Amino acid sequence: MNDVGSLPLSLNPDRLFASDPAQRAIARRLYGEVAHLPIVSPHGHTDPQWFAGNAPFANATELLLIPDHYVFRMLYSQGVRLDELGIARADGSRAAVDPRAAWRTFARHFHLFRGTPSSLWLNHVFHDVFDLRVRLDASTADDYYDRITAALQTAAFRPRALFERFNIEVLATTEGPEETLAHHATIRASGWPGRVITAYRPDAVIDPEHEAFPHALRRFGELTGEDVHSWAGYLNAHRQRRAFFASLGATSTDHGHVSAATADLAPEEARRLFDKVVRGQADAGEAELFRAQMLTEMAAMSVDDGLVMQIHPGVFRNHNRAVFERHGRNMGADIPLPTDYVRALRPLLDRFGDEPRLRLILFTLDESTYSRELAPLAGHYPCLFLGPAWWFHDAPESMWRFREQTLSSAGFYNTVGFNDDTRAFMSIPARHDVARRVDCAVLARLVAEHRLEEDEAAQLVVDLAYHLPKRAYRL
Ligand SMILES: [Zn+2]
Repeated sequence: MNDVGSLPLSLNPDRLFASDPAQRAIARRLYGEVAHLPIVSPHGHTDPQWFAGNAPFANATELLLIPDHYVFRMLYSQGVRLDELGIARADGSRAAVDPRAAWRTFARHFHLFRGTPSSLWLNHVFHDVFDLRVRLDASTADDYYDRITAALQTAAFRPRALFERFNIEVLATTEGPEETLAHHATIRASGWPGRVITAYRPDAVIDPEHEAFPHALRRFGELTGEDVHSWAGYLNAHRQRRAFFASLGATSTDHGHVSAATADLAPEEARRLFDKVVRGQADAGEAELFRAQMLTEMAAMSVDDGLVMQIHPGVFRNHNRAVFERHGRNMGADIPLPTDYVRALRPLLDRFGDEPRLRLILFTLDESTYSRELAPLAGHYPCLFLGPAWWFHDAPESMWRFREQTLSSAGFYNTVGFNDDTRAFMSIPARHDVARRVDCAVLARLVAEHRLEEDEAAQLVVDLAYHLPKRAYRL
């Protein structure tokens, strides 16, 4: 695959380190401490079926394009329709698109990713996982497609073999309470030692405005045998499913609410609100109040069962109505919102803020809250920790901003290391590598400015890459 005219693909060993020689030399030494550490991935969205069935991935398009909304949202923004790529529709059907044609469309548009984290990750995958040495463009599209697709048919590229090659110590997926976790049970029963765990994501049975709410609530009742139309039965159903998730390895819950609002209603008031919700009579304000109350109920259950709570607020989901109607959720049309934490979290923190058994990890898509709200909160309340720069902010620049804005109030040890939060399995080593390199660069600067000794930085960088996520997520 050395077509005349094709451009070389290389990964510079100093990428993401400072160009200043003193800082770069320190960053290189720090990176030597973490480059080969196992990957701890406590939050993500890979498909447990991959590891249960261990079937080969079908082709380059199914593996690298279809599951990755970071990629197809950029193509969509430049006029490529999701049907041209063969992205599934909401009803489960798919346009009849040759996967090779979809790949060519992707390759023709690959320049759109220049300078973005997607290009950092994808080029890392092409270079390190598939051994490709020329760049992806229209002229190399077919060679890429053939080489990747052929590799995927070999034993070394089966999901479990890749999991081992990527040196993943633990990988969390995310499931809803209405799901059976059959794939997780299969993985456990198979005798394969790979540690794939689940996380409890109850949005579909907590958010009355979620389009799946009525169906999910019905399944929730069927799976638990509880009367989920009564407040007490509904709460019992949560307790039961949380215990079941924990039995399949879950150590955390995750809550993707529009806002970080919490509430602490009197029990009778909460019951009355719930009755309105299940009768379909809650207005928008009552739906928000119910989600808010449920965060506090989830915190109460976490105090009992030890599941670490994550709140991922601040996204206007499915902003493009036509795309949502045609293709459903997670189509790259989610847009960040301004988010308040100080007032929003007060009801929950009034009740549980000093509770030593509660661990609550906060994320944001509103960077203005880091230095003003989140770092001071996490730098005070023992239960609060800061999740890493997330989603729209998992680029190197945003990771720098995260450290710069949180270090003074929260330090490093109120943060929880890195989450790849990805559906794109192949990109997991690339994403962790970027996070490790950025932390090395940040620490190298502190060392070069004599704000930190290099031996302290060498310990810190290992903590950030490995020990903090394990401790924060009780792994
Ligand atoms: Zn996530």
